[in-house]
Amino acid sequence: MPTTDRNVTALALAIDDAKQWYLVDCGEGTQHQLLRCRYTLSNLKTIFITHVHGDHMYGLPGLITSASMQGRQAPLTICAPDGVQQFVEAALHYSDVSHLPFSIEYIHSDQSDFQYQDNQVTVTAHELSHRVPSFAYRFVEKTLSTQLNIDQLNTLGVPKGKLWGLLQKGQEVTLEDGRRISPEQVMQPPPGSRIAVIAGDNDKPELLIDALQGAHVLVHEATLTDAALQKVGPVWMHSSARMVAEAAEASGVPNLILTHFSGRYQLSPEAGPNSVLALKAEAESYCSCNIGMATDLSVWELDRANRLITA
Ligand SMILES: [Zn+2]
Repeated sequence: MPTTDRNVTALALAIDDAKQWYLVDCGEGTQHQLLRCRYTLSNLKTIFITHVHGDHMYGLPGLITSASMQGRQAPLTICAPDGVQQFVEAALHYSDVSHLPFSIEYIHSDQSDFQYQDNQVTVTAHELSHRVPSFAYRFVEKTLSTQLNIDQLNTLGVPKGKLWGLLQKGQEVTLEDGRRISPEQVMQPPPGSRIAVIAGDNDKPELLIDALQGAHVLVHEATLTDAALQKVGPVWMHSSARMVAEAAEASGVPNLILTHFSGRYQLSPEAGPNSVLALKAEAESYCSCNIGMATDLSVWELDRANRLITA
């Protein structure tokens, strides 16, 4: 549930400074939170919904109609399990929205052959354990193909221009002084892909072990502490901080961002066992990876060395 400090779930993902960005989940009020950050509805490329619960998708009709009011024309893709398309279409239909200036393409992420791809990322879905079908999305960055090593070109004295173009095309060139330069001498491998796994609600984080192979960051719910989860019981099918931390540790993922805290957890450290810090302390005692606690509008950057930096 929302609190005065925290809204329900939504997460923006962007590759470096690209304008085009992705939204994972869209709880109620997401469009209001967007007004407070650098991402705009016009540059929103694709929405991924993890599951049909309201705190993850009630924001869709409002966000879509606001994009319409702003005159968006670019098609919008929504990757989501069954139910989301029906919900959005019904909401639009019964609120007198008969026409949008852009098309919406739905891709059913609960199908076994689901894969999303565009010029920036490849995304797969991984089934979790929750009261309804719930998924984690694994984003793999597409990197540039092999590229010229400029420093090496300058060291070898290859003049900029036509010769660089030939080398880029894989051809050997001859310099004015007679030296021959092969493409292998001046090409460098592409940078490694950064991989992020962003999970929906889930009470079995160990299901993600395979999806986390090679991943650099996991974003996962930690709704309660272990003690609180024991009291509440397993009926809501959420994870404690300990459960996520243990799975993260077992997978070897170097960075973990916890989110989706129960409304009982306050930002103030004075709240003791009901402070977000209690969740963090619990996670830290089971996991050696770098742990971030999500707060609304917080920003993290995963750099090329795969370090997670608070921006
Ligand atoms: Zn939820």
